[in-house]
Amino acid sequence: MNVLLVGSGGREHAIAWKLAQSMSGQLYIAPGNPGTAMYGKNVDIGPNDIAKLVDFAKTQSIGLAVIGPEDPLAAGAVDAFTEAGIKAFGPGKGAAQLEADKAFAKHIMRTNAIPTAESRIFDQFEDAKAYIASRDEAVVVKAAGLAKGKGVFVCNDPSDGILAAEKIMCDRAFGQAGDTVIVEDKLLGQEASILAFVDGRSIYVMESSQDHKPIGDADTGPNTGGMGAYSPAPVVTEPLIKQIVKEILVPTVDGMNRNGTAYKGVLYAGIMITQGGPRVLEFNVRFGDPETQPVLMRLKSNLLEVMLAVCDGCLEQVTLEWDPRPAVCVVMASGGYPGDYEKGKKISGLDQAAQLKDVVVFHAGTAEKDGDIVTAGGRVLGVTALGDTIADAKTRAYEAAGTIDFDGAYYRRDIADKAIQ
Ligand code: AMP
Repeated sequence: MNVLLVGSGGREHAIAWKLAQSMSGQLYIAPGNPGTAMYGKNVDIGPNDIAKLVDFAKTQSIGLAVIGPEDPLAAGAVDAFTEAGIKAFGPGKGAAQLEADKAFAKHIMRTNAIPTAESRIFDQFEDAKAYIASRDEAVVVKAAGLAKGKGVFVCNDPSDGILAAEKIMCDRAFGQAGDTVIVEDKLLGQEASILAFVDGRSIYVMESSQDHKPIGDADTGPNTGGMGAYSPAPVVTEPLIKQIVKEILVPTVDGMNRNGTAYKGVLYAGIMITQGGPRVLEFNVRFGDPETQPVLMRLKSNLLEVMLAVCDGCLEQVTLEWDPRPAVCVVMASGGYPGDYEKGKKISGLDQAAQLKDVVVFHAGTAEKDGDIVTAGGRVLGVTALGDTIADAKTRAYEAAGTIDFDGAYYRRDIADKAIQ
């Protein structure tokens, strides 16, 4: 079967790497990156050019389209492929609102008694300002729409909260995504990402993981798309997974069915483990980036088979096998990210890193230029390693990152420390 994978980040490199292990047909990646080109043919169509993607799929006898990023999912890519008679992995447009519209997600949580932070929703800045000013406690201010993981401000006092609302609603830092804001209570605890395959009915929880959003060591500085991740997350114990399935995942899948927006694909719940139990911080409607890199490094089973089972609604017939060894992914970024940064810096040491055992260097923001691999984005590479322990996986990932260099390369030095402690 031929497969079309849509996207160009580290997540898509990891999916391509995993799919290629069990595919007999041709893998196409649109638009892909130099990393995905090692496992299939990159096709020069943007991830949001849905009509062109569907046309391409028709001409190449694509049996399955896999949509990596949230934007095409929110724009209805899965619906478009399905209408053309092509199976597509991911939620339809209605279900993708769970990520694309945080106000919708809050509505689903509220109506299905799913534990989350208390919140208020505003579409007028003055109302948001008055509410934040009336509060004594710290608040979190979020743009309701898609903002590449950067539309969330965890504020320590009301004045910071008002500045955040102003940035989102008045300065329109995230455009239309900031027409509505959510102001919610700040929760305390450890975070974990729970990713599950969902086929509309059945839920299969993957191995746990944790990402590192802030740019700086010890979680300092502004949030990014994610600076690294590890799997498993030791805070996520068996009883906690059972509780998360019962109190969060099952009511979400049932609630989405009742809402007429049945859920299929990867459901990703960002959870805060508070003293009062797990609370949802956010839902994502696709594999997380960079959590996917360490999670898929640990998946031993056939990913294509699982994705087809999700599309066909027969997930209960599939069993998944995982490598018990932990994995750690260190993201190497361009200097200046998440602010301005330069592109086109030549990357050296990739071949040397690739020779290390149980290490995969996933490409994210890279491009090929005159036979060299150069930087082409904020997050450039996800250097991922398996190890006997999390500490061992961390050492090995950093050893591999140490062999790679480009002008201005930056990476956090404390990825996975939380898990090691
Ligand atoms: P989100 O994209 O909604 O997951 O938010 C990004 C990050 O902001 C999360 O990973 C948390 O670290 C933080 N965050 C979001 N909501 C809250 C909250 N209610 N309380 C504390 N931290 C939060």
